Amino acid sequence: TQHYIRVYIHQRSWRWNSRSATERALQYKVGEKIHGFTINQVTAVPDLFLTAIKLSHDSTGAKYLHVARDDPNNLFSVQLRTTPLDSTGVPHILEHVVLCGSEKYPCRDPFFKMLNRSLSTFMNAFTASDYTMYPFSTQNSKDFQNLLSVYLDAVFFPCLRELDFCQEGWRLEHENPHDPSSPLVFKGVVFNEMKGAFTDNEKLYAQHVQNKILPDHTYSVVSGGDPMHIPELTWEELKHFHATHYHPSNARFFTYGDLPLEQHLKQIQEEALCKFNRIETDTAVPIQQRWSKPRECHVTCGPDSMAPDPTKQTMFSVSFLLGDITDSFEGFTLSLLSSLLVSGPNSPFYKALIEFQIGTDFAPVVGTREACFSVGLQGIAEQDIQTVKQIIVKIIDETIKNGFEEERIEALLHKIEIQQKHQSTNFGLALASFISTTWNHDGDPVEVLQINEKVTWFRKCLKENPHFLQEKVKQYFKVRNQHQLALSMSPDEAYFANQAKIEKEKLQQKTSSLSEEEKLNIVKKGLELMTAQRTLEDVSCLPALKVSDIQPMFTFTPVEMEYVAGEVPVQYCAQPTNGVVYFRAFTNLNTLPEDLKLYVPLFCNVITRMGCGVLDYRQQAQRIELKTGGMSASPQVLQDNTNLDMYEQGVMFTSLCLDRNLSDMMQLWADIFNNPRFDDEEYLRVLVTMAAQELSNGIPDSGHLYASVQASKTLTPAGNLAEMFDGINKYLWNVGCMELWFGYFSRMISHLAPDPQNLQTRRRENNNKIPFIERLSRREDVPRRYTVGSGPEQGGIGQGEGREGREQGRGRESRGELKARSKRKVLRPALKEEREEARQRHWGIEFQSLGAERLKARSPMVGRLGRGMWSRPEPEERRVRAGR
Ligand SMILES: [Zn+2]
Repeated sequence: TQHYIRVYIHQRSWRWNSRSATERALQYKVGEKIHGFTINQVTAVPDLFLTAIKLSHDSTGAKYLHVARDDPNNLFSVQLRTTPLDSTGVPHILEHVVLCGSEKYPCRDPFFKMLNRSLSTFMNAFTASDYTMYPFSTQNSKDFQNLLSVYLDAVFFPCLRELDFCQEGWRLEHENPHDPSSPLVFKGVVFNEMKGAFTDNEKLYAQHVQNKILPDHTYSVVSGGDPMHIPELTWEELKHFHATHYHPSNARFFTYGDLPLEQHLKQIQEEALCKFNRIETDTAVPIQQRWSKPRECHVTCGPDSMAPDPTKQTMFSVSFLLGDITDSFEGFTLSLLSSLLVSGPNSPFYKALIEFQIGTDFAPVVGTREACFSVGLQGIAEQDIQTVKQIIVKIIDETIKNGFEEERIEALLHKIEIQQKHQSTNFGLALASFISTTWNHDGDPVEVLQINEKVTWFRKCLKENPHFLQEKVKQYFKVRNQHQLALSMSPDEAYFANQAKIEKEKLQQKTSSLSEEEKLNIVKKGLELMTAQRTLEDVSCLPALKVSDIQPMFTFTPVEMEYVAGEVPVQYCAQPTNGVVYFRAFTNLNTLPEDLKLYVPLFCNVITRMGCGVLDYRQQAQRIELKTGGMSASPQVLQDNTNLDMYEQGVMFTSLCLDRNLSDMMQLWADIFNNPRFDDEEYLRVLVTMAAQELSNGIPDSGHLYASVQASKTLTPAGNLAEMFDGINKYLWNVGCMELWFGYFSRMISHLAPDPQNLQTRRRENNNKIPFIERLSRREDVPRRYTVGSGPEQGGIGQGEGREGREQGRGRESRGELKARSKRKVLRPALKEEREEARQRHWGIEFQSLGAERLKARSPMVGRLGRGMWSRPEPEERRVRAGR
């Protein structure tokens, strides 16, 4: 019967019915014993359409949270609290080594090898500074069992062979393993990975902040491994760390989705937990001892060759240690408070620091057992440190005095509501990372999920005490909190040479005492490893799906097409979107002159941020926050998979909003298209500088993506254009040559203001717009093709803003992977039928929208937007043929 229910739900996952997973889960009783577990708590969380069941494992004490939700994309994760007290990178190396084969599956790299044996929608592992997490998700129940088996075996019964440790961690080896006369060097995956990681100055800085503001325990070390300390780790220590940390008594299991809980419990009990007894763990992080007065610190880094301005490479921030994150309401209030202080152009710190143009972006913050708040700037001159410090003090004083505008608080609460309702494609994974930090420190994960109750409580606090937030600012940022760290970091020309010297000394120290026998052993092991790496592995031990395990029919998503204003096709798609409307539109760039194409990425970056209609950029930002879940534009190149010479080029506009705000969102789009405001050159400069800094920061993480874009440049015409829109050159153009960039910019506006010296005044007098922007928004130039998918991959529970999201888990490869995934998703080309449709309609406006069924009733409004923007589409060659 279970199987029957499963299939039924799978096909109509969004229909509420009496057999829904959420309702079935409510039948569990506290105290009930299932497969070695006891149920401790059953809680309905109606706002998120889920039932949370908390359990514990009787004999080992393992903690377990099951979230039943009518979502077929089921997720499993096991999280271990890994709190090292040295910088050898032991948790990170262990994460690598457990994936080198286990008792049942003695095969290297099972994630990769499972790719063609599974229908997983996510497989990965993360090492954060205080936990390691192994999550996967899939929509197929047999696949879930297969992957669970592989994951449990990897985590609890890994082989941990010495050769794996040498490969993944560190080893001494001849530069050329075949040539014993070549010099001995350090090798190892993590060793090199961490050397790379610390060339990223933003990461290096965040690491310093964390180490220095929480100096008493695990946060004072580098959990990922400091390359200069990694060679101190031994294989024995790695095995010991596994035995004491990768133990059920130190584990938190999380399952999510519509699959029945019993099956999960049974498998986890039989394949792993029944083989263990309880141990006493020693992994908890104590509360940091508070300082009696603020501290100041200075560190150095390597010069950044991609810095927007080479004379301004100093980072500076003031960090405050706040409170215990396991107090979920206090944590909620603090995160609201920090958003109010720093996020968006209406926040006091943004106004004072970014727009003041001392620096380019906020300095990064850290996430730990106790919450920290950091504010500062990167890209400043060293002599500006004191100025920044004074501004920070001043803003805090002003905030205590004046408080926050009511509308901003409303906008933020609206944002929380929409993030909560936004159904991201991997909602289970978002939940897992949302609760991970609190749960890791024994906070209540279910409380974390009850967001609405906290919003209600927060409103009550504000109502009873209008100075509630101001008092919090005073409590955490003024005299009563002396635990403050002012940290500056500036480049040192000799930095890299020093690093190399330290490594050389370390190498010297390791090699000088080697006996002849040990030297021979190194040669032998190097060759052994090489042979092992070259041996083709037998992967037949790994489980695989059979055709009969897979549903023969793909779930069909019905869509409806309509034409509004006579010409504008709109596609509607009814889905269970929690009352959120998703809008996506695509306009092609076929008529844009070649020389302006270079500016398309910049156009996309600023078009929704410069103000529109009667709104200046601040008012617009406020309006967007108050009424939508974000509005954005991105350049797109869609390759025709059936003909490599064909492609489409365009700009994708995406946004989402609550159903009740749809007309406000459409009005914003209409204003952006019809009356964009490009009269504030100063603010444009701020945006460009910020973008440049962000791009520069992102390069170390995304090298592989740029390499692949660059490599495909010469292969196809689409690749060539994609390189212009997405490639490293865009970054060089933005980052390396600001003057050059302003040159291009001047050329654009010189259409209207030939004398650059009088640019500003002239432009004000004439109220001129940048021709390029105008061209894009002028109706006769702007056809023309609109397509839709799901909403932008932003927001969503626990993802918060990029900044908070960034510190979740360090796994850089995983983040890159995530980034690549979401990119792929957005770039997914139109369906074949859609393309066929478009091909037949020569002029091809296609304007589709995805959202609740009720959207249909609003089509006159969508039509208004369509009419306003593109009422007279002209016939044109919709697709570009390659020119060579
Ligand atoms: Zn790694």
